[in-house]
Amino acid sequence: MTIGTPQNPLRVAIIGSGPAAFYTADSLMRRKGLSVEIDMFERLPTPFGLVRGGVAPDHPKIKSVTKAYDRIASKPNFRFYGNVEFGKHVTLEELKQHYHQIVFCTGAQTDKRLNIPGIDLEGSHAATEFVAWYNGHPDYRHLTFDLTQERVAVIGVGNVAMDVARILCRTPEELATTDIADYALEALRHSRVKEVFVLGRRGPAQAAFTTPEIKEMGELADCDVLVPPEEAELDELSRYDLENSDDRGLKRKVEIIQSYANNQPTGKSRRLTFRFLVSPVELHGDQNGRVTCMKLVKNVLYRTEAGTLRPRATDQYEELAVGLVFRSIGYRGVPLPGVPFNDSWGVIPNLRGRVTEMGSEQPLTGLYTAGWIKRGPSGVIGTNKPDAVETVDCMVEDLAAGNVLHPPHPGIEQAEATIRARQPRFVTYEDWKRLDQMEIERGKAQGRPRVKFTDVEEMLRALGK
Ligand code: NAP
Repeated sequence: MTIGTPQNPLRVAIIGSGPAAFYTADSLMRRKGLSVEIDMFERLPTPFGLVRGGVAPDHPKIKSVTKAYDRIASKPNFRFYGNVEFGKHVTLEELKQHYHQIVFCTGAQTDKRLNIPGIDLEGSHAATEFVAWYNGHPDYRHLTFDLTQERVAVIGVGNVAMDVARILCRTPEELATTDIADYALEALRHSRVKEVFVLGRRGPAQAAFTTPEIKEMGELADCDVLVPPEEAELDELSRYDLENSDDRGLKRKVEIIQSYANNQPTGKSRRLTFRFLVSPVELHGDQNGRVTCMKLVKNVLYRTEAGTLRPRATDQYEELAVGLVFRSIGYRGVPLPGVPFNDSWGVIPNLRGRVTEMGSEQPLTGLYTAGWIKRGPSGVIGTNKPDAVETVDCMVEDLAAGNVLHPPHPGIEQAEATIRARQPRFVTYEDWKRLDQMEIERGKAQGRPRVKFTDVEEMLRALGK
């Protein structure tokens, strides 16, 4: 019987429930003439990946994309299996018993490593962990950050570095109206952080953060934003590139950075300083192994053969006293059991979303990928839409060519029976909507959009599971 018809729908398992997962589901549902049944698997009882666990609590508008995800999830051919971990509760071999196609959308769950001496001293943390902590991710809620420190460095000048710096520099009153995790709000209320340094290894024209994000820094309630004037100045190569660029956003970004170089401290309670053309080369600690200081080297830019500007260390060093360090130099994917993984790039090897064997470009029948685990940690939430469409184009092409898995038990109930046997406490989308409602109710009492559940057992208890 033809696969993809009402009598024999295409059965797809999507692993992960972040933006890439939902855009994959959406794109599949929109294909004309295709009957598809989608099961989405998520390790946590709650969906949405980085929209829930990554997007900063003070950026509520960005989170409103979940309304579109709710609409996708409300379709009768969609099922959510939350609290079900791929590789632990269900294996790839088991999924192959039930699905024609399997799509991995697990994102990038860890951070890129910065290999410098002292990087593992106490008080040096991955920004990704701090982000997951303040967003109430159950795996990170037990972490602690020494917010008694007055001076903090954030390494990297991407949007994650901006999120981290902003959360550190906002007043408790600013944070109290957000959905930041309760324990993080409490910890940040007692924060003694006064000075935050955000460190870029290249110049203002190469900063990875986007224009609205840098502009927003100047609008914080009680924080002076500064840039050393000599570091806001563009070097000759950057000036040449900027003059010959028609990227108006980039020009505006540089203007904003340079406007901060005119600022003088006005005595606000916190101070945020952007530094450019500096790289940390070593962290120093005290006798207890706690970070106390960072050695920085001054960089200059040079042009590579490919035409990009890269940093080169000079012989000028300085010491920056800091008691807390956040490394924000990018996320990185983690391997999934039984699925090929390119360890150098931190992604699943693939061609336009078709998973390939490592070392050959041979696609593996029925296996696909979308989002950060496919292309690496780049772009904004919307970038995952065309990325997912590209993957689904391949899935549909392969289906037409008869190149799919041939599961012996493709029935919806058969898959559910396997999942129930492996993880009887799985969470449905209706369950999640109940949790969602409870969080919103808890928030109302405090004038906040929601008060998140951050503990898996507590979530399951609240659901009566
Ligand atoms: P990112 O944008 O790739 O930025 C990484 C930063 O780390 C860059 O400044 C990079 O500098 C620096 N870096 C890398 N290796 C380094 C090293 N060895 N030493 C010093 N610095 C180093 O990554 P991200 O901030 O993690 O963000 C990931 C993605 O999520 C981005 O696409 C971002 O825009 C997106 N995001 C968006 C929002 C938002 O829309 N508000 C919020 C958060 C994240 P070089 O440029 O010199 O390599």
